[in-house]
Amino acid sequence: VFRKILVAVDGSEHADRALQKAIELIQSLSNKPSLTAVHVNPVMMVAEPPLGIDVDAKLNEEGHEMTEPYRQVLNPTGIQYDINYQTGDPATIICDLANSQNYDLIVMGTRGMSKMSELFLGSVSHKVIQHANCPVLTVK
Ligand code: ATP
Ligand code: MG
Ligand code: MG
Repeated sequence: VFRKILVAVDGSEHADRALQKAIELIQSLSNKPSLTAVHVNPVMMVAEPPLGIDVDAKLNEEGHEMTEPYRQVLNPTGIQYDINYQTGDPATIICDLANSQNYDLIVMGTRGMSKMSELFLGSVSHKVIQHANCPVLTVK
């Protein structure tokens, strides 16, 4: 059933645990699913960027740096993986990617970087669970 697994990462400890769970799941399955780690930078372009600043290059560099620790975790596992870095609304991008590329499972944290600890479920998880066409595994 699981051939392509999408893991949503935001730099939080919850996301680290989600990635770890996804790795364990893949290693326990004989068909060895592939893994994509996706990070969405929730940038909002409101004003004109300052002259001489290449915004796309900056965002790309940021994305590469942000996702580097995930490469370090995934490299030694031997799992077939790729890293997807995008900008926009996180939940929308995650769902669009999962739905359009036919992922079989999304793995993510129950919560993320926000300090609103009274929340049981973060807004990104909430929205992805609502709108994804595939099962969503949330990790505490
Ligand atoms: P909120 O952002 O709603 O104030 P929160 O930060 O605690 O609360 P979420 O943002 O919903 O909670 O995070 C839950 C999980 O969603 C994270 O553990 C991560 O797996 C995923 N996630 C959150 N933000 C992103 C993002 N920008 N890119 C990729 N995955 C994300
Ligand atoms: Mg968040
Ligand atoms: Mg948020």
